[in-house]
Order: sequence, then C-alpha cells, then structure tokens
Amino acid sequence: APTPAKVAIKMKVHNHTTLSTPQKTALLQRPIYDLAEITSRVKPIIESVQQSGDKAIIDLTAKFDRVELSSTVLNAPFPQSLIDQVDPKVKSAIDTAFENIRKFHAAQLNTSTLTVETMPGVVCTRFSRPIERVGLYVPGGTAILPSTTMMLGVPAMVAGCSEIVVASPPRKDGTPVPEVVYVANKIGAKAIVLAGGAQAVAAMAYGTASVPKVDKIVGPGNQYVTAAKMLLQNDTKAMISIDMPAGPSELLVICDNNANPAYIVSDLLSQAEHGTDSQVILVAIDPTPDFLARLQQELHTQGEALPRSDIVRVSIGHSYILTVPDRKTALEFSNQYAPEHLILHISEPASVLPDIINAGSVFVGPWSPESLGDYASGTNHTLPTYGYARMYSGVNTDTFVKYLTSQEVTKFGLDLLGDAVVTLAEVEGLEAHRNAVAIRLKDIRAGRV
Ligand code: NAD
Repeated sequence: APTPAKVAIKMKVHNHTTLSTPQKTALLQRPIYDLAEITSRVKPIIESVQQSGDKAIIDLTAKFDRVELSSTVLNAPFPQSLIDQVDPKVKSAIDTAFENIRKFHAAQLNTSTLTVETMPGVVCTRFSRPIERVGLYVPGGTAILPSTTMMLGVPAMVAGCSEIVVASPPRKDGTPVPEVVYVANKIGAKAIVLAGGAQAVAAMAYGTASVPKVDKIVGPGNQYVTAAKMLLQNDTKAMISIDMPAGPSELLVICDNNANPAYIVSDLLSQAEHGTDSQVILVAIDPTPDFLARLQQELHTQGEALPRSDIVRVSIGHSYILTVPDRKTALEFSNQYAPEHLILHISEPASVLPDIINAGSVFVGPWSPESLGDYASGTNHTLPTYGYARMYSGVNTDTFVKYLTSQEVTKFGLDLLGDAVVTLAEVEGLEAHRNAVAIRLKDIRAGRV
C-alpha cells in the first residue's frame, strides 16, 4: 500500500491585532508538566541513594540506563586511553570553543574588594569567594555533550572552585563519553560520576562512599534531573543550592521583511530539533503575504531534509508565527514571553537591545545564529527557560561564587552610629543587642577608652 503523504511542516499564524487578551495570554504559556507526578517518581530514587549509596546507583543505572557498572566514579587523573579516543579535529574544535568561553567568563570574575565608608569611621566591604565543592550535571546517555561540560565547567574553573565533580550518564560499556572526559580533564575536575538522572543528582547532594558530596549542583537535564535538583535544594540533610529550575528549550525570533527567510528558518529548526517539547516562536513585524509564503516554503523544505524531521514535525506543530504591526509590539510580546533564546532578524538589530528586558541570551543580526552561542562564541548556553528569564540569569561566573561582607568600625565611628543602633534594638525589644553597643558607648563617652 502507498504510504500516506505526510502533512507539511508548517507553523500556525496568529495576528496580534485581532487576538483577544485571553488569546494573547494563552500564547505566552508554556506546556504544563505535572510536577507532582514526576516528584512521586523521583522521591523513591532520592531515598534509595540516601540509604544505599553506591549500591543504589548501580541498581538504578541497571534499571533506567541498562548499564552494568563495576564502579560508580572515575577519579582524576583520568585515563589517557579514554582521552585518546577523541578525534583530533574534535579536540581542536573543543579547544577553540573552550578558549572563547574561558575569556568571556574570566572577564566576569570579580576579584576586587568593594569598600565603602558609609559614615566616618564605619567601613563596609564586600568580596567574593568560590563555592568550594560543585557538581556539574551533563545530560545525555547516547548524546555526546562536550559543550554542556564546557558551559558548566569553564565558569567553575575560572571562579576557582576547588572540587569540581562531573556527573553524566555512562556509555553502554559503563565508561564515560571520551569528549566529556577530555573537557573534565581540561577544567581540572576531581571525579566523574558514571550515572545520570535523579540518582546522579542525589549522589552528589548526599555524597556516597565513592561520590564526593558537593555544595551546589548546576546543569540542565530531563524532568527527573530537574525534579531531583528542586527537591534536594529543600532537603536540610543534603544542604545544597542549585542554579535554576529548567524546562524544555525555547527560541523566539523577531523578524522584519528585510530578513532572509532561509536564515530565519534554519534558526527556528536548530531549536525545534532539540526535542518534541521544544518551543519556537516567530514574531514577524508587518510581514507581506509573499514573505510569509516564502517562510513556510523554506520551513517545509529545510525541515523535511533533516535527519530529525520527525522530531521537528512535532515541535513545529505546537509552535507558531505571530504577526505584529510594529517593532514596539514585537518587543513587548518578547519581554512578556521572556524567551531562553532571542534572535533579532531585523534591520539595525543592536538598536533595540536597550528595550530588551527579559531574555536568557540575545543573538543580534543575521550573522549570529543561536548555534554559535550554543557552542563556541563565549556566552553560556545554560539559560533560564519557562519564563524564568524574568528573574534568573543563565549560568555565569557568579553562579560559582558567593559574596561575603565585612565591617570595621573605629571608636569614633561607633560613637557616631551607636545611638541609632541602641534605639533600633530598644524598638525591637532586644536588650542584649542594645547592651552590646551601650556598654562600649558608656566607656567611650566617659573617656575610659
Ligand atoms: P538526561 O541526562 O537529562 O537524563 C538521562 C537519565 O534519566 C538517565 O541516565 C536515566 O537514569 C534517567 N531516566 C530515564 N528514564 C527514567 C525514568 N523512567 N525514571 C527515572 N529516571 C529515568 O538526558 P536526556 O533525557 O537526554 O535529557 C536531556 C535534557 O537536557 C533535554 O531536555 C535537553 O533539552 C536538555 N539539554 C539542555 C541543554 C541546555 O543547556 N539548555 C543542553 C543539553 C541538553
């Protein structure tokens, strides 16, 4: 029998001017996922790692990854035989990307001490220190993700974290992906946990006989990884923090009629191929019917030719084009949506940067495809999704440091500030606080000190 013709790869088109307010609000929504259901699956995994440590990791890896582990961790120095499995051309590409990411993240490191004399004799300072022990989750069992290892590892290295632990699902023979090992070696990682999913996150959060315990866990991953990070950051036994909540990857493109439809489409598809849950949105400023027709044609042609066309068909199926009358409306919509990635295919693209309030990372103009930032320009690709770009930054050097403050006050400064503190302590009814100042003021004012 003839195979039925597949439907065209095509995006729905909405017109902003004719949409009702509830319809506009609906376009801003992300696919809802059932956190309670995922949580109920992840909790027993976390509990079993907490109770049984390495044995639980071995059992869960056999169950979910179908890999028989002989050990759960590979400690540094990593075997040269694994590193040698990386193709020299790939090593060279990794080295190029690594250096750009290192330069951009090293420039972000704030090592200077901020000193402010808030009143005569009252000196406050702020200075940063690395978070000592960090865990980097690098997703993917069959996928090879040296890029994510760099995006997490380079900022951690630059920040000066003293113990970097990488966790990533192993290959079928139980060994780690050589490209990940190559990068782990370059960043000076101490160990590679040979596991993925919630079990790897729990292992780094609690520590096991083999897996070192860490203080912060960062990195993208599937719903089990994300749920485990969110649960463990509220667990006082684990006592960890995380980078950010994460959801499926997203892209919003703003274009005008001067843009090249083939470039726009190639960018949309580079996001759509991530997974069936990827979301891509094209906001087209006053497009001509001809421009829209060329876009849809390109989308079908380029999409059909991709090895991952089946994934693209699904993700493009729940993506859309929104036509808007002008730039202002385009930027307002983008800011409300708060995309993980924002690409500007418009004339004089840099001129709108001051008006962009919410976005993970922005790609300015036709020669800056998202792929560059995903791999090698120097910016980070671990970015806030799901609308969290409203209040979270992507991973950066500050992700791996914390700020301490100090104050040093002179006798003169205490004399100047003391009465205000005594009054505030009295208002709050904290007598010991009041006394700590009053006892000194008494001596100063009596000329005894
Ligand atoms: P993953 O490493 O996140 O998860 C794989 C692990 O999930 C496996 O090791 C397995 O133990 C566990 N698992 C599988 N089925 C399970 C089940 N039924 N119950 C419990 N655990 C189970 O890899 P993935 O699944 O390929 O997902 C990768 C995710 O990371 C994707 O969503 C991708 O978009 C995202 N990603 C994001 C970035 C970024 O920087 N934004 C980069 C790369 C990947």
